[in-house]
Amino acid sequence: MKPPLVAALDRLGIKTVRDLVRHYPTRYDDLRAAVKIADIPMAPDGEINVLGTIMRISHVRLRGRVRSKSTAVVEDGSGQLQAVWFGRPYLMTQLKAGMRVFLRGRVERTLAGPRMSVIQHRVVQEGEQFEGDLEPVYPLTAGLQNRTLRRLIGKGVRVTLGDPRSILDPLPAKVVAGRGFVDARWALRAIHEPKDMEETEQAKHRLIFEEFFLLAIGAALRRAAIKAEPAPVMDVDGKALAALEKEFETLLPFTMTKAQRRVLAEIWADMTGRAPMNRLLQGDVGSGKTAVAAGSMLLAARTGYQTAFMAPTEILAQQQFAKLDGQLSRAGLRSALLVGGLRRRSRDLVLDELKAGAIDVVVGTHALIIDDVEFSKLGLVVIDEQHRFGVLQRAALRAKAHGHTPHTLVMTATPIPRTLAQSVYADLDVSIIDELPPGRLPVKTYVRPASAKPKIFEFVREQVALGRQAFVVCPAIEESERGVHSAEEEAERLRAEELAGLRVALVHGRMSSQEKDEVMRLFADGFIQVLISTTVVEVGVDIPNATVMIVLDAHVFGLAQLHQLRGRVGRGAEKSYCILVAAEGADDTRRLGILEKTNDGFVVAEEDLKIRGRGDLGGVRQHGGDDFKLAHLIRDFPVFLEAKKAAEAVVAADPNLSKHENKGLAAHLASLDRDTMIKATS
Ligand code: ADP
Ligand code: MG
Repeated sequence: MKPPLVAALDRLGIKTVRDLVRHYPTRYDDLRAAVKIADIPMAPDGEINVLGTIMRISHVRLRGRVRSKSTAVVEDGSGQLQAVWFGRPYLMTQLKAGMRVFLRGRVERTLAGPRMSVIQHRVVQEGEQFEGDLEPVYPLTAGLQNRTLRRLIGKGVRVTLGDPRSILDPLPAKVVAGRGFVDARWALRAIHEPKDMEETEQAKHRLIFEEFFLLAIGAALRRAAIKAEPAPVMDVDGKALAALEKEFETLLPFTMTKAQRRVLAEIWADMTGRAPMNRLLQGDVGSGKTAVAAGSMLLAARTGYQTAFMAPTEILAQQQFAKLDGQLSRAGLRSALLVGGLRRRSRDLVLDELKAGAIDVVVGTHALIIDDVEFSKLGLVVIDEQHRFGVLQRAALRAKAHGHTPHTLVMTATPIPRTLAQSVYADLDVSIIDELPPGRLPVKTYVRPASAKPKIFEFVREQVALGRQAFVVCPAIEESERGVHSAEEEAERLRAEELAGLRVALVHGRMSSQEKDEVMRLFADGFIQVLISTTVVEVGVDIPNATVMIVLDAHVFGLAQLHQLRGRVGRGAEKSYCILVAAEGADDTRRLGILEKTNDGFVVAEEDLKIRGRGDLGGVRQHGGDDFKLAHLIRDFPVFLEAKKAAEAVVAADPNLSKHENKGLAAHLASLDRDTMIKATS
């Protein structure tokens, strides 16, 4: 078992001394200026500090939760005030009449003079010259007091400053020059133990830049490393590419949008280049990403390479296969589906043909790369809706491809505004399809109060009577404390009441993937008419006949997530509806109203980011780097751009960071692997 202190630190994400000193204060309490009691304003605003002597003090026990109340009369030569503490029985032994005390708290005026609810106090010893400071207030967790954490962090700061490596500044002199940054060691001390607020500002100014800079350095180095890996050779000149595009267009049952054409050109440019492609393709649901992926597979096949297409679930793999197979076979490409449900003989056949090079495109789940599937000549990997995968599994991909790194294309329908994408996906190149094929009927979206539920389900019955299907999404699986709708309860209730007589099924994340797949299949086949679920339906499944998406307690979801859910409908020819059922709070109604107004995922994502800071990036996290501690991507975006530019210049001039001027930076990066773990209590 971990000692409680270590466990508490753990909960704050603090595992190393480095984490500890990077646990920054959220604010500072000013314990410096004590006010004369006589000078306390009539209507004091905020917290006030007083330094005085306890004239009288009494304690009473109370019933109930608070347990005790201590009341003291404190005087400072200018006047007296009444100081009150609740629930601190230990004061009985700690505070006595005659003691000098420093008090901080909120003051109110009563008929009997000023009265302070004490937030913090300190006994000032005989003859001690009291000097208050700016006290940092840290993010805390149960069982860890600010005072303890402050002491630990103070130790961490001493240890770090005493470490010879810390004499080196991670920011190269060239980068510091002209920007007026304070020294790294100074900044570390100042953020935790500032003498005044000015110091905290100077420290933050530097540390925010440093966070962005280090992130960008990591990304630039990874980018450079990827560029140096051996790539599949798809040597095709411009003329041949133009011909291939023409041919591809004739194979498609539609004309590509301008955005699709532009993005396919970006992908082909990567694939015919010298370095392995590492590209992210963003585009709203239905924007035609799969078609673009098919185009990239065509180029791979024509240059003699195989493609692995990986979807997050088997049912999605099957749907993508159904879409792709037609297009690819018209181009003379052989494709195969490799999922768990195959019979042994068919599976072995696919495996043999893959190994022999008779199959151009194999579609499956991530098991394709993890299992012992062998390729003859793997040149392209397309990953649908799993951003992290492509980045993390490069070594596995290389092994499958016998030495070279296949081109990777990661596709996502969680859009991130272009300006931010480059930072969120720091080491990926980004392509964006920002246009839907013509003639799409936008999904009509409505925000409705819970009181409208009877009418809403009446509408569901009407749609089902017309032969359509509906989703009902709930935030929780079981009855929950949060007081939100749960899928299990809602399914039971709807079956008995509003939707009695309809074929209603339930799907949620605690079911096995076989069970889930089974239900999804019955829904996709049209047997199930209404599907009650949690957000497991968020990704991918294509049910063109579903025309209604109802989200209960929509206010608990982020806008981007709701937009994803809305994307489950509106995939067929019929008009579709998304009904967001929300508690009647003004803020929520306004926020959700954005979805009523727009169907553009990028606009939604941008609004979401504005409202929620970093926003819901679909679970995307910076890989490799730490999360930002002080920096805020939106607020500090100009700083980010500057830091990124500086980082790229450093890596371009010194790709191995071996020059003397980058010594501090190199040492800093190397030290990340050698962090001292916090094991014992201090
Ligand atoms: P995504 O993967 O981005 O959600 P898909 O590639 O699955 O989108 O395309 C959605 C639907 O639109 C498919 O049925 C596809 O055939 C069709 N489609 C794709 N591109 C076009 C286009 N340019 N014009 C018309 N229909 C298109
Ligand atoms: Mg898709």
